[in-house]
Amino acid sequence: MTMKVAIIGCGPSGMFFLHALAHRRKRLEAEGDTAALALLPDVTCYERSSSPGGVWKSDRVEDKDDDDKLDKCKSTSMYEALWMNGPKECLEFFDYTFDEHFGCAMPMYLPRKLFLEYMLARCTKDNPTFFDDVKFNTSVESVTYNEEEGKFVVQTLNRMTGLGTECTLFDKCIWAAGLNGKPKIPKSIYEILSSGGFKGRVIHSSEVGPIFDQCARGKKILMIGDSFSAEDLALQAIKLGAETVDICSRSGEGIACETGSWPEDRVDIHECYLPTEVTKDGSGIVLSNGEEEITLEDIETVIFCTGYLPNIDMLDESLRPRFEGRYIFTDYVIPKDWKMSKNPLTREFGPIAIGKITSSIGIVRGDVYRGLLISNPNMMFSFDMSENPILATSRWLLLAHIMGDIPIPSQQQMKQYNLKILLDLLDTPFWRYYEENYMNRWYDIDDDHWSYDVSDKRMIDMLKDYFAKDMKIVARDCCDAKHPLQIGTYENLNERGEAFVEFNMVDSFHRYDLDEESPDASWKTFRDFDPSNKIYSVMTGTKAVPLKCRWLDIDGECKEDIVPT
Ligand SMILES: Cc1cc2nc3c(=O)[nH]c(=O)nc-3n(C[C@H](O)[C@H](O)[C@H](O)COP(=O)(O)OP(=O)(O)OC[C@H]3O[C@@H](n4cnc5c(N)ncnc54)[C@H](O)[C@@H]3O)c2cc1C
Repeated sequence: MTMKVAIIGCGPSGMFFLHALAHRRKRLEAEGDTAALALLPDVTCYERSSSPGGVWKSDRVEDKDDDDKLDKCKSTSMYEALWMNGPKECLEFFDYTFDEHFGCAMPMYLPRKLFLEYMLARCTKDNPTFFDDVKFNTSVESVTYNEEEGKFVVQTLNRMTGLGTECTLFDKCIWAAGLNGKPKIPKSIYEILSSGGFKGRVIHSSEVGPIFDQCARGKKILMIGDSFSAEDLALQAIKLGAETVDICSRSGEGIACETGSWPEDRVDIHECYLPTEVTKDGSGIVLSNGEEEITLEDIETVIFCTGYLPNIDMLDESLRPRFEGRYIFTDYVIPKDWKMSKNPLTREFGPIAIGKITSSIGIVRGDVYRGLLISNPNMMFSFDMSENPILATSRWLLLAHIMGDIPIPSQQQMKQYNLKILLDLLDTPFWRYYEENYMNRWYDIDDDHWSYDVSDKRMIDMLKDYFAKDMKIVARDCCDAKHPLQIGTYENLNERGEAFVEFNMVDSFHRYDLDEESPDASWKTFRDFDPSNKIYSVMTGTKAVPLKCRWLDIDGECKEDIVPT
């Protein structure tokens, strides 16, 4: 009997699983291995929207419901003018290089639109009908598992007709519906704004698309949250002519806080502040850090850059992993004699007992082993927490598990594997930061923020160790899945793996190196550094080129708008 596999979602995760399968089929056909071909699974990919690409598309309005931001909005997308926030070289495909796609050297950061086109072209270049079998406009409404039959019952809805609920049985189910699946808005802050009678517009970062120009030009904006969305939207708002952008950062640690300087002196970051009330006339917002208050007058738009939630609503409770919260590593017992190895902070920090870990740490999760739900490994998850999510080869790994290339270990072995990775990560200062006791100690000690000082060698070594640990997990997956791109082993990265670590470092330094005192501070953004001596393709050796002109002056997302002539 042919094994039947369901995939929920045709964003990058879903489409690259289909691609891994197509790649294997092609190889087996070339080898004339009919026996192995007969064993390939029969895969059905369901996609709620009308085309592939997931959040990389800018036009996904299908599930948006503006009337109820907190509960009903079921999908997210990037906005039209969004740019990538990491080096494209870390996401290049082994079988379709940037040179082949673009025909010339390109800048290190690309507009969303160009990267989406690259991903889609990779799938269709040898196979124009690649997406023909995907069931678009079809939403998976529920997935349950019938223990007796060992089958998943998948119920779908055709969104075009609104009718025709269909139930199908599958041996395996792959969830690829997106970690950034739906907007996350903290209820308490939302309520402060609504009950305080805030008169301006309140939106989530995923909603800015068609209205950003109106929200930004000549306006005062407050962003709540300090991560990649805040960074990107703050820069975009300056480009569009916003009068001021205030960023309110609860922790004072997000990527926006790493930025050494913002162009045009129109961005203010309020570290460790949160909104506490709306001014009497409804036009201002008061921020507080518990001791001091700042009043921001005449704010016209508040943008929640507060992240996303995974879209797991369609899965039965028993099939859902825990994504955050204090139970995430409940079953894991850290050995009593475990100690961190010596590192640049050891002397200053002293010994610190392991405390609570309340979020997933790196690629390791409590109840998921390399993409398999530990309690039911037929339920699979295609997502990555790697710093380089699209490069990460988890889809090849899932296929290797499905095909039996890699045996599925016992539940106990899966947890042992996860524990080993967890301890290895916790052995690295920047990864251990996810653990409560260590983080608190860091707060106490690092008053003057030396850990943000990239001229401090300790900082450089620790950052390198952070990226290398992440990359080594990817390297192991590449080895085990026999992925064509080999970047070394879990023990040692090879030259390519080391290059990826270096690219991540360079990307971070582009933020830290922005300097308020510098003569170009008025216009320079992290995307304006010249990458040509540091960033190159590990496939072709082609060096990344600087942007055609200042990023702030680029008006368009086509190749011609960004590549020097
Ligand atoms: C604003 C933003 C900027 C980002 N920038 C970068 C970046 O620069 N670099 C980077 O590497 N990553 C970036 N990311 C991360 C990005 O999410 C991943 O790169 C990638 O899109 C994840 O792919 P995915 O397929 O797992 O999820 P998604 O892209 O979310 O795709 C999931 C798909 O599942 C479908 N789906 C959901 N529910 C159902 C259902 N019930 N039935 C059927 N289909 C369903 C959705 O319609 C969607 O097409 C960014 C994310 C966001 C939100």
